[in-house]
Amino acid sequence: MRTSRQVVDYSLQKRAVLRDVFAGRVGTYDVCDASPYLKNAARFHGEPTEQRCPICRSENLTHVHYIYGDELKQSAGQARTLAELPALAMTLREFQVFVVEVCLGCDWNHLVEQFLLGRDGLAEGGPEQGAAEAATAATQGRRREAQR
Ligand SMILES: [Zn+2]
Repeated sequence: MRTSRQVVDYSLQKRAVLRDVFAGRVGTYDVCDASPYLKNAARFHGEPTEQRCPICRSENLTHVHYIYGDELKQSAGQARTLAELPALAMTLREFQVFVVEVCLGCDWNHLVEQFLLGRDGLAEGGPEQGAAEAATAATQGRRREAQR
């Protein structure tokens, strides 16, 4: 997504977990522990992917997007479909998105990535932003200029 920033990727951690599972150091029951809430979120708000589950290899993974942030008030911590995120990003200044992959077959689940969305990313650094954030916004602005 165009306004996503401060992306944290968790693929290294995931690979480490899978290595431990395949080496027999960790049981599948320890990593295939999706809660009923997570599975419901995957069913109703999840984004189907073409990726096979690394554990059972019989189902495709579903991505669930959880949103967090003060501006969300009682919606904080809820799952949202991918299609709902751009509208939220236009109305809110800043919120955090956590992407979790889940297998509805064997209950495997793992954090995929986290990132920030919101209007703040489009500004050239407001007065409330820290120096680093302002610099990032400025860089993104320049990149947008360059693409024009
Ligand atoms: Zn599975």
